[in-house]
Amino acid sequence: MISIRRVIAYAVMHRYLATLLAVSVLFAQPPASRIVSGKRYPRLVIRNAIIIEGNGTPASGPKDIVVENGMITAIVPFDQVSAGRGEGHRPAKADVEIDAAGKYVMPGLIDAHGHLQDERGGIPQPFEYELKLWLSCGITTVRDVGSDTTKALQLRKQSAEGEIACPRLFIYPMFNRGVSPANPAQARARIREFKALGADGVKFLGVYRDVMEAAADEAHHQGLRIAHHAGVEETNAWDDIKFGTTSIEHWYGIPDAAVESGRQHFPASYNYNNETDRFRYAGHLWREANWDRLMKVFDGMVAANVAWDPTLDIYEASRDLQRAQNQPWFRDYLHPTLAKYFEPNPANHGSYFFGWTSTDETFWKENYRIWMAALREFEKRGGLIGCGDDAGFIYQMYGFGLIRELELQQEAGFDPLKVLQHATENNARILGQESKLGRVRTGWAADILIVNGNPLDNLKVLYPTGVDEIRDGKAVHTGGVEWTIKDGIPYHVPTLMSELKEMVAKARASK
Ligand SMILES: [Zn+2]
Repeated sequence: MISIRRVIAYAVMHRYLATLLAVSVLFAQPPASRIVSGKRYPRLVIRNAIIIEGNGTPASGPKDIVVENGMITAIVPFDQVSAGRGEGHRPAKADVEIDAAGKYVMPGLIDAHGHLQDERGGIPQPFEYELKLWLSCGITTVRDVGSDTTKALQLRKQSAEGEIACPRLFIYPMFNRGVSPANPAQARARIREFKALGADGVKFLGVYRDVMEAAADEAHHQGLRIAHHAGVEETNAWDDIKFGTTSIEHWYGIPDAAVESGRQHFPASYNYNNETDRFRYAGHLWREANWDRLMKVFDGMVAANVAWDPTLDIYEASRDLQRAQNQPWFRDYLHPTLAKYFEPNPANHGSYFFGWTSTDETFWKENYRIWMAALREFEKRGGLIGCGDDAGFIYQMYGFGLIRELELQQEAGFDPLKVLQHATENNARILGQESKLGRVRTGWAADILIVNGNPLDNLKVLYPTGVDEIRDGKAVHTGGVEWTIKDGIPYHVPTLMSELKEMVAKARASK
C-alpha cells in the first residue's frame, strides 16, 4: 500500500521535476564510479537533496549541500519559492558531486552503545568486519562503552586521521576492567588513569555506591562523561540522579528504583551469576515497578539531565527467540566467529537460551509493553532518549542492531522523525557534541547519509540489504544507504557490502 506521505513526496518530486531536469543539464553529474569510495575530497557537492535535518523538523528540499574539508559549509534551497525570491544561487560545480535526486539525505547515525570487538569467545574476528558493517548501516559515530582500551584508542586516532574506514569513535573504558577499584581512593585513581590515557568518558557496571560516588565526582572534575549499566545491585537510578550520570544504559536501575519493597521478588533459587536466571527474571521486573514512583524517578532524571539509552534491540531474543535466530542478513553477512558466539553457551555473556520457554517470551512481551510505555512517558516529561544497540551479543549484528533499535523505538510509539532525532541530535547531546554532530546543518561535521528511499515512511530502507517494493506492478529491490559520508569522506555502501560478503565467505571457507 502506498502511504499518503509517499504520495505527497512523489507529488513534491513531480512539481520540481521540470526544475531538476533543467538544472541537471547545467550540473551534469559525474558517474558514481568516478567518486572513489573512502577518499577525502577538498570539495564535494550533494545535489537535489530532500533533507531530514536530525533535529525533529520535517524533511525539506530540494537543496544542494556543499562539503569542504569535512565540514558542511553551505546548504542552498532551490525550490520554487526560494528561487522566486532569488535565493537559490546554486553552488558552483565541484570536483566530486553526488546526485541525491529521489533519495533522502540525513545525518549519519550515532550508535551510543557499541563495543569494539576483534574476537568473540576468544576466537579472532577482524575489526574491519565490524567497522564496515557500521558504515554500511549508516553509522558515522560510535560511543564505545567497553572494549580493549589500548586498541580502541588506536582505532580512534586512525579514524580521525581518515586512515581506515571507521566511524568516529568516543571511548568510554570499562571502570571495573581488570582489578576493580575497591574503595573511593582507588576509584579516583582509576578515573585519573583513564583521563591520562585520553578517554572521552567512563562506563560503570557493577559498582558499589561509595565507589561510584567518588568515581563520578572525579569524572566530573576530569571532564569525563558517564555511561552507567546498573545491574541488580546496590545502586539504582536515584544514585545516577545524585551522582550526575550522563546516560543510563539499557534499563535496569530504573524500574528497580520504583519497586515498592526496594528489591524485586526473586525465587529462593535465584542466582545472579546464572545468566538464564538473570535474563529470565529481568523479564518480570517492569511489572513490579510502581507507576507513581516511576514518574518521580523520571522527574528526577529530567531535573538532573540523566539521559536514557534503552537498547531495546538487545533483549529482543528474550521475547521472540526464533525471530532473533533467523535474521535474513545472517545468510551472507554473519561472520562464523560471531555465529559461534551466538550459540547457547554458558561461558559466553548473553548466550543464555537453554530451555527458553513460551512462558519466558510471554513475560518478556509484557515487560516490553511496560518498558515502551515508560519510554514515552519519560520523553513526555522532558527526558532525553538516545539510541544504541549493544551489538555483538544475543543475535544482534553490528549496525543491523541499531536499525532494529530504530524500528523498536517506532513500535514504542515515537514518530520516525523523533526516532531519527534520538539516533542523531539526542545522541550528539549525550556525547556533548551537539554543536558539531547529529545534524545536517551549516557548520556541522559532514557526517551525512544518502538513502535510497524515505526512512520516515519505512525505517527498513536503512538496512544495507535493502527492501522489496512493488512499483508499476513490478517487484523492485531498492533501499539501503547509497553513500555514508563520514567527516566528508564518502563510502559507497554497496561496495562495502560486497567486501563484507567476500570476507565472510572466506572466513567460512577457511574454517
Ligand atoms: Zn554493552
